[in-house]
Amino acid sequence: MKTRMLLNLYSKPLVSLLLGIVTYLFLAIFIPNGMSGSPLFQGLVDQSMKIAPLIFSLFCLVSIGWACIQTYKYWRWERGNAECCSSCGGIITQKFGRYGAYVHCLACGKNRSN
Ligand SMILES: [Zn+2]
Repeated sequence: MKTRMLLNLYSKPLVSLLLGIVTYLFLAIFIPNGMSGSPLFQGLVDQSMKIAPLIFSLFCLVSIGWACIQTYKYWRWERGNAECCSSCGGIITQKFGRYGAYVHCLACGKNRSN
């Protein structure tokens, strides 16, 4: 149960980091390799080479910040200072759906309306 909860807790920061890696590879390798022969796209190639590390850094910062927030949630839950799931005691997150606000348990996956 705890493994699933931690996986749910850190999956979005991890996806953000992977998206940054894919974006970096696209901008720094795919575009220069695919368009370097054409003088028409030389400006695009230069700009993509310049902006690739910047965008990767931005994705890294977002991932680290997001992971810090999730770690804070986990720390509060470990100390017993956070609201818990009524059926399993796992970490819950606030969500907004079609029928209004509800809480979702990251451990067992159950939803409960507020
Ligand atoms: Zn639960």
